[in-house]
Amino acid sequence: MISVSTYGRPQDRLQTVRKTTALLSVVVVALLFPETVSTAQDPDLPQQPVTSRNDGSPRSSDPVYRISLRVHLGESSRTPQDFKDILDEINHIWLSQAGICFEMHVVQDDEPLEQGMDIWFMPELPGVPGLNGYYRNDHDIQVRDTPILKPAEHPARHPAARTAAHECGHGLSLSHRQDADDNLMRSKTYGWRLNDQEIGAARRAAAKMALPDAPLRECAEPVLPDPART
Ligand SMILES: [Zn+2]
Repeated sequence: MISVSTYGRPQDRLQTVRKTTALLSVVVVALLFPETVSTAQDPDLPQQPVTSRNDGSPRSSDPVYRISLRVHLGESSRTPQDFKDILDEINHIWLSQAGICFEMHVVQDDEPLEQGMDIWFMPELPGVPGLNGYYRNDHDIQVRDTPILKPAEHPARHPAARTAAHECGHGLSLSHRQDADDNLMRSKTYGWRLNDQEIGAARRAAAKMALPDAPLRECAEPVLPDPART
């Protein structure tokens, strides 16, 4: 906080005026350009959708669309507990930008869901060598345990989270967008950003497959199997 004293020396008062002017400028910029300020937040911190736009992307009062996602780890080289951060990051990518939450249940079997989506993680994908992941349909999404990705200016933390979030993007109607490494829908990079058109399209797709009675701005933690039984 800046404390304003009327008893300082003239140069101190001048400094105080300068600081106060600078602070006021920041407030004015924040009022005039709220999105400029919100994008300056630490991208690693979880964020809720707080911007108000007229292009289909979420306002703070819009519902979070919750989509069931069954996570199949029976063939993965990681334990379900080792996946906790990866699953959290998938939800961070989608919730913070688009107000879409995947309600995840981790299973060790191959039984697919009837609604929502199913994703499998495994050390290598069958078929094409070096393939990081693919989306064939909502119940046939596969991701390599450790995809090989090219750098991005604002990278995701976990390559498996980035590739899984990308494949889920295909499940939410999105196509590839190759114009920047930071894009979630660019092939084979660490990028995780969505633009306004993608957010609007993904939310329209999510609304059709969302769980009923979606509460505002809530997203459940991934449900992991009991460690004593795994
Ligand atoms: Zn793709």
